[in-house]
Amino acid sequence: MAKTKIAYFCQSCGFESAKWLGKCPSCQQWNTFVEEIIDKGNTPSVPTWKVTSNTQQRANKPVQVADITFSEEHRMQTPDKEFNRVLGGGIVAGSLVLIGGEPGIGKSTLMLQLALNMPNLKVLYVSGEESERQIKMRAERLAPEVLSQQSSVGSQKLNIGAQSEINKGCFILTETSTQNIFKQIEALEPDLVVIDSIQTLHSSHIESTPGSVSQVRECTAEMLRFAKETSTPVFLIGHITKDGMIAGPKILEHMVDTVLQFEGDRHHVYRILRTVKNRFGSASELGIYEMLGEGLREVSNPSEILLSQRDEPLSGITISATLEGLRPMLIETQALVSTSAYGTPQRTATGFDTKRMSMLLAVLEKRCGFRLGAKDVFLNITGGIRVEDPAIDLGLAAAIISSHEDMPIPFKTCFAGELGLSGEIRAVNRVEQRIAEAQKLGFNQIFISKYNLPSGGQDKKRMDLSRYDIEIKIVSSIEEVFGQLFG
Ligand SMILES: [Zn+2]
Repeated sequence: MAKTKIAYFCQSCGFESAKWLGKCPSCQQWNTFVEEIIDKGNTPSVPTWKVTSNTQQRANKPVQVADITFSEEHRMQTPDKEFNRVLGGGIVAGSLVLIGGEPGIGKSTLMLQLALNMPNLKVLYVSGEESERQIKMRAERLAPEVLSQQSSVGSQKLNIGAQSEINKGCFILTETSTQNIFKQIEALEPDLVVIDSIQTLHSSHIESTPGSVSQVRECTAEMLRFAKETSTPVFLIGHITKDGMIAGPKILEHMVDTVLQFEGDRHHVYRILRTVKNRFGSASELGIYEMLGEGLREVSNPSEILLSQRDEPLSGITISATLEGLRPMLIETQALVSTSAYGTPQRTATGFDTKRMSMLLAVLEKRCGFRLGAKDVFLNITGGIRVEDPAIDLGLAAAIISSHEDMPIPFKTCFAGELGLSGEIRAVNRVEQRIAEAQKLGFNQIFISKYNLPSGGQDKKRMDLSRYDIEIKIVSSIEEVFGQLFG
């Protein structure tokens, strides 16, 4: 009689231990260990993804660096340009990609839309979450004009799917056992596999329940082997828990080639697909989508949607030139400063780090003498987008003071600068791209740090400002900015 094998796993980082622990030695979290049965001991050894005799013999040998020939990986282009961008230029053969996001944010929609629109490719969409009927209904909603063969109104709106024929090679499989999935894969031989979601899969090699750390890890490992051995790209959808980790096992992030995060506010229409990790490209790319009734629409010019249309300047509103990945974006930042009705002032920031907001307020109070201590301060970044670029500091500080003094910022003005603790305006990266974007969108002036110019503003040769039509205000401190803005 074989013995049941039990192990304890940290739900937060996937650390494995033979006995229960109160505190995880790996991630220092408390009370995260759960018991999982890994092996009942009587599991027949079913092959997971069968290893062909070919691949077993093909062991790698050391190669001289000089002999390594470099060739660009073959990438499949998807009709979705934003998706190609976050992947670093298309889907790499044999890559394992994890798409994480909160439940209900639209991960399935994104992937199904992709599966339906891959031209001339056999795509297998494996769903453990929805029935075939549900997926069909979703697919019809995504591209009704193509599926029901009607000539359509509004087909231009959904730019992917509208221009290309619906992918006849899109197959749906509702299955959760990896062994059965591999059986179907062998029969179908798809060019691309989508798993929705990794938390619903289970492998008969592991006894614990689907979604547990050991199951998720084993199923991912099986998918990884399959992807590498057959050079078939595999996309895994993974649900993220509240604290932003891919349902407990962070370990997943180490196993896959690329991690994409799909984020956004469920109540807003905009979604961001962010590259968190990418073995085949830059890890700071970003794609923006608009969630419409009929699916996700690529947003190719984000600045235009993130700026609201207004006829007259209002106090507390500024525009910041930010950079997400390599992409310049102008976004609107709003501040509301009012006298606190209660003893403790309220401080709320949407789309911006609250700690950084406290820092900004402290600098404004200490260096510029604004009495903000007893004020309620609310900050908001429009579009439900979260910004991490420190270049937004200057715009936010100006918005706060504009609201506090109830004086609007002049029309068509934008900002790009980081605020230091002594009130100095620090340089930001790629300032020329930001200036160019502001000019492109018809702004009259942009405030930038003097430290962005080589040798403190004396030598303008390297960065030729005269080639811009937009007026460039070079400032070194926050007082100087306010002096120029409010006199
Ligand atoms: Zn841990």
